[in-house]
Amino acid sequence: MRDRVLSTMSRLVLASVFFVAFETFPSGTQTFPSPRPLILIDPGHGGADKGSSYHDLLESELALNTALKIQEIHLRQKIKTYSVELTRNTDRWMDLEERLRIVNHRKPSLVISIHYNSSYDERAKGAEIFTLEKLTGVQRQGFLASLSSPAPELFEASIPDVILKDLERRNQILRSREFAKHLQQALRTTDVQTVRTKEAEFQILGSSYPSVLLEAGFLSNASDRKAIIKDQSAGSNAKKILEAIGSWIKTTNVVSSRDEN
Ligand SMILES: [Zn+2]
Repeated sequence: MRDRVLSTMSRLVLASVFFVAFETFPSGTQTFPSPRPLILIDPGHGGADKGSSYHDLLESELALNTALKIQEIHLRQKIKTYSVELTRNTDRWMDLEERLRIVNHRKPSLVISIHYNSSYDERAKGAEIFTLEKLTGVQRQGFLASLSSPAPELFEASIPDVILKDLERRNQILRSREFAKHLQQALRTTDVQTVRTKEAEFQILGSSYPSVLLEAGFLSNASDRKAIIKDQSAGSNAKKILEAIGSWIKTTNVVSSRDEN
């Protein structure tokens, strides 16, 4: 009898181990990783910093509106595969340090910084997606030197760390470029038709997390402006950005480095 009780108990224990294992390592489309990957949307500028403008069209307000639309549609569509947060959800000024503090604290799986462009050349048009620049040989030496201790005796000890940081930067650039491809593909079908991907050293683009900076069209170009105004109520850019996040998560091994849900 005791043996039977024990074997029933061990079956129960085994079953719960399987259950826990299945819950911890979900597969298929019905279960989701916990914690879910967090996508941090960063509307550029804000408050006294209006960014680019064309008459009463202000980059800071357009970027905020697009970010709020992303959050609203994410909520409305009940998307469970990832969560969305904003660096700011009101028209307030934020410096770069505050934005980076939020990134470091929230540990997002992707940062999308949203901006609108302007140029003296009214013909300049289209959306531009920026990812962190791949370093040239000379830049790479500078980057590695900046990571290492200036004291030669300490430098040797920190070499593995330097190599790891370099690999980490390359890895995050690759992930960012992957997302940029998805975003470029998704935005091709919006009214701002020309979409380019470029590399740059914007400071919000981090070397320890995937990130892109989107300039979602030129306020200085008549046809872009028309599309941008239309989009502010239609929210098609926001929908396309969410589509790109969804397809990127589906095809890339996105892991969350956060502790909580
Ligand atoms: Zn801007």
